Amino acid sequence: KPDTHTFKETLKMRRNYVGRSCKLHYEVSPLKIVRASRQYMYDDCGNEFLDCINNISHVGHCHPHVMGAGQEQMSKLTTSYGFLTDIQVEYAKRIVELLPEHLCVCYFLNSGSEANDLALRLARAYTKNHDIMVVENAYHGNTENLIKISPSRLKKHNLPKEDWVHIVPVPDTYRGKYREDSVSPGHLYAQEVKIAIHKAIDNGRSIAAFMSEPLMSLCGVVVPPPNFHRLAYRYVREAGGICIADEVQTGLGRCGETYWAFETQDIVPDIITLGKPLGNGHPMAVVVTSKEISDSLTEFSSTFGGNPVACAMGMAVLDVIKNEQLLSSAKSVGKCLIQGLEAILPNHRMMGNVRGMGMIVGLEIVEDKESRKPNSDAAEILVYKLKERYIMTSNEGPDKNVIIFLPPMCFTCDNARTAVQAVDTALSELEESASQANKDVDDSIQVPLSILTGQKHKLDSDDDDYDDESPSKRPLLLRKKRRVDFCKEEIIM
Ligand code: PMP
Repeated sequence: KPDTHTFKETLKMRRNYVGRSCKLHYEVSPLKIVRASRQYMYDDCGNEFLDCINNISHVGHCHPHVMGAGQEQMSKLTTSYGFLTDIQVEYAKRIVELLPEHLCVCYFLNSGSEANDLALRLARAYTKNHDIMVVENAYHGNTENLIKISPSRLKKHNLPKEDWVHIVPVPDTYRGKYREDSVSPGHLYAQEVKIAIHKAIDNGRSIAAFMSEPLMSLCGVVVPPPNFHRLAYRYVREAGGICIADEVQTGLGRCGETYWAFETQDIVPDIITLGKPLGNGHPMAVVVTSKEISDSLTEFSSTFGGNPVACAMGMAVLDVIKNEQLLSSAKSVGKCLIQGLEAILPNHRMMGNVRGMGMIVGLEIVEDKESRKPNSDAAEILVYKLKERYIMTSNEGPDKNVIIFLPPMCFTCDNARTAVQAVDTALSELEESASQANKDVDDSIQVPLSILTGQKHKLDSDDDDYDDESPSKRPLLLRKKRRVDFCKEEIIM
């Protein structure tokens, strides 16, 4: 069936009708994805992309068991909150059975942000304290409250930190305050938490909660060193606060072997928040906590939270994880990906560090191994170069220099090898062009530009880059100038 609109029309309508602050994934040369299956996505020209970033399609895009469960339930009943439904209580029971005994009460919501927002409310209601402690560079969601506790957003939008927010250093042993050569970086980073708590108390503040991702995803795939979380949790609890694990990205087995990232950190949170992967793309989120903490909240409602369709799909996702043994697969495929990237690490001066576990892996792009200086331009160009090779990745982290891999869990070792080979070739090209460019061009903006395009474009030319008549010729890479224009100007058709 042909698409309703041409690429150009869709792009124009998007510019006209959708908020400009909603960013497209490949801002320079966006993709129009028309269908997806398993770990592959297909654009309007029929190109197949290996999806290394869509963690919401946890068990694979359009998994028939999940789609079938959703369709069947949709044709039977969907309703807002307030009625007894078997599917909801069965789903709650199944989630709780995957968690430590005290995490036994569920709240249903529709997004990770809603879940984290409720977690803050629960923490404040239970502890009667107000302040929240978070890790530098973290992102916890898009509501007003969550932006205030997301240091990555405070930095990005140049917003002041509120007095009730306390930020501790990110326990990053590659580029953080304490590195891999420190005797016990986990203890040192935890000590920073202790110091921040004492400082807050000295200023008459009191901590309601410490919210963190047990394995930090969008801040560049940071795997905290042993003992960081264990000690941080202890200090927070000693100060009367509770500990919230944001497992919106990492939950449901992404780290491989265990269902929850907190298990890899030898900790047990008081509240856990879940989102993205639960419905395999269908919006749903869950907060799980103890009975005592739950009982501190007198009222809560969510119109769509825990609706029968979401629960049916959530239940089907749990079935697939079990039936297709996706946890052990994530563990071994993740090893394959990490080892593959590590094997090419010595060949590339721009490859700084490879880290992660299971199906959450980060590759840090630097200027050179010695300085470890983040190379954001090279990382961005690499993402486009990988796109040219039909591999979808993304560059994240505070310096946007970490290439992240968060693929659907059905990703295979073959897929991992394909991705590694593409990274190897693209990086070789990039390093080669960078050294060439450094020789001939002085202007620092021109260096990444010439690498990005692979040739020198006339910056003032006004050729039409989006040609609907010959979509196969649509450039995957556009010049940097266009990127600036893209956000500001209407496309003229
Ligand atoms: N927590 C983390 C760690 C996230 O990465 C995100 C989304 N990227 C959220 C919370 C917010 O989830 P949502 O976008 O579903 O509201």
